[in-house]
Amino acid sequence: RAKLAGRDAIRFFDPQMQAEVSRRAELDAGLWQALERQQFVLHYQPQILADGRVVAVEALVRWCHPERGMISPAEFIPLAEENGVIVPLGRWVLESACVQLAHWASDSARAELAIAVNVSARQFRHEHFVDELIEILGRTGAPPSRLEIELTESALLDDVESVVAKMDAMKAMGVRFSLDDFGTGYSSLAYLKRLPLDRLKIDKGFVCDILVDPNDAVIARMIIVLAENLGLQVLAEGVETEAQREFLVQQGCNAYQGYLFSRPLPVAELEAYFDRQQQV
Ligand code: C2E
Ligand code: MG
Ligand code: MG
Ligand code: MG
Repeated sequence: RAKLAGRDAIRFFDPQMQAEVSRRAELDAGLWQALERQQFVLHYQPQILADGRVVAVEALVRWCHPERGMISPAEFIPLAEENGVIVPLGRWVLESACVQLAHWASDSARAELAIAVNVSARQFRHEHFVDELIEILGRTGAPPSRLEIELTESALLDDVESVVAKMDAMKAMGVRFSLDDFGTGYSSLAYLKRLPLDRLKIDKGFVCDILVDPNDAVIARMIIVLAENLGLQVLAEGVETEAQREFLVQQGCNAYQGYLFSRPLPVAELEAYFDRQQQV
């Protein structure tokens, strides 16, 4: 017992862990300032339909830190959710994506492109979320029917009536909804059925071993069948190999996203990628 406690004590002072703790504290404290100093940028990852067309991209935020370089949202979004920066940061993401949408909408070669934006639970629950979205759409002139909002199950775990009312208000304008990271949360199927969703996104955690882990293959197939039966589209994220894509096509998946097609790209590179796809 004493030995165990001793080992834990040593681990607590592990220098690598100390470095991680202080890095996290530093990033946490730096988030507000980063927003003021405009250190965030959106990259866009193409979403590919079964016929190979690109009709939408997912906006993924990055933090261009002056000393630490590009920081992944996987690292700072959880901090932003905890300390509340996610609300103004999420508003900035929505606004930037809508400015981009309006820009593409006025460019005949790219007018069809839609943008999917991640909205975190805390942001979605915020009392002014819907009003602010309406205001942003109006001010930027972005076509609402080209905006898709990606929610996770945690965002939807409020009382179902208020969630549905919020979603309906946005759907009335033409906004679409995806359920991100599907299969990793705890929502019941009965609950899911009541939400006005358009699409399920199969979490990349199931896609990565889909060819080697029979359980993952079964789960992915189940999600595809479920989507079909609920009249929803289904997109697989994290597709890295042609063999994974092929397997998912055979199961009836409608859309794909992953390094096999493209990494998330800065806007100019995304436009070049899209223009190349249009030519083939
Ligand atoms: P997500 O929404 O599930 O986004 C998909 C993540 O998978 C992205 O990571 C993307 O770069 C990565 N990815 C795409 N294709 C592949 C692949 O083939 N293999 C692998 N291993 N990964 C792939 P990223 O950009 O690091 O974002 C991580 C998460 O951070 C997102 O997961 C999302 O939950 C959150 N996030 C990103 N941007 C925003 C944002 O603007 N607002 C909010 N609230 N959350 C965001
Ligand atoms: Mg997403
Ligand atoms: Mg996801
Ligand atoms: Mg994720």
